[in-house]
Amino acid sequence: MIHFVGAGPGDPELITLKGRSLLEQADIVIYAGSLVSKAHLDYCKQSCERYDSAGMTLEEVMEVAIRGDREGKSVVRLHTGDPTIYGAIREQMDFLKQNRVEYTVVPGVSSFTASCAAIKREFTVPDVSQTVIITRLEGRTPVPELESLEKLASHRASMAIFLSVGDIERVVEKLAEGYGSRDVPVAVVYKATWSEQKIISGTLEDIAQKVRDAKIDRFAQILVGYFIEGEYGRSLLYHPEFTHGYRQGTE
Ligand code: SAH
Repeated sequence: MIHFVGAGPGDPELITLKGRSLLEQADIVIYAGSLVSKAHLDYCKQSCERYDSAGMTLEEVMEVAIRGDREGKSVVRLHTGDPTIYGAIREQMDFLKQNRVEYTVVPGVSSFTASCAAIKREFTVPDVSQTVIITRLEGRTPVPELESLEKLASHRASMAIFLSVGDIERVVEKLAEGYGSRDVPVAVVYKATWSEQKIISGTLEDIAQKVRDAKIDRFAQILVGYFIEGEYGRSLLYHPEFTHGYRQGTE
């Protein structure tokens, strides 16, 4: 059996109990070495075979995984954050399916929620935004035209932008076009939950320079929206006058 496991954003305590116990039982672990903390491997058995997928192709990863499965071994494919977001797991799952190999997917704490926690904010606040957009700038991987940053920014929803800090100037230009303003709060969170974590706060006006000055060009989330700074409404759920299934309000 192959298990796709979300390792969480970095801090080894931010893996699920299920993910940790699969790591403890694993005979083979294939981990995304560029982003996953090696501390997770300390929980593996001594006999566990370890492969860093950073230098491997899809075919090579699948060969190791399928060989392990055929030998009756337990295989963990360890991905950073949550495997269902920019994890490139779909192609692996389809490969396994074609080879009639069973697999499971164990979710993880994604770096976008870890980054929002790091800045101590909530993405969805009343009167500001009830929507979170997870996206990226196109790089070598294209992004459909209908999902261009300018178009998405025009919704003024809370945003978490992955894989894009290396081109922060272009991100800022597109967001400014969509918002029609540069007075928009932005927080860049580098290596959320790692000991090297850095938080850079600003607006579309000054964030690019600040990020350059901090020499951040990878491994960061760009969080954008008025959920970071500004007024918001009180939630109805905990309002004394509001009645719901579990509580009678005063009016
Ligand atoms: N599946 C992962 C994302 C993989 S794509 C997840 O759910 O988080 C890799 C990108 O994720 C990086 O370029 C960066 O934008 C973001 N990222 C991953 N870990 C991060 C962390 N600890 N702090 C900030 N951003 C992170």
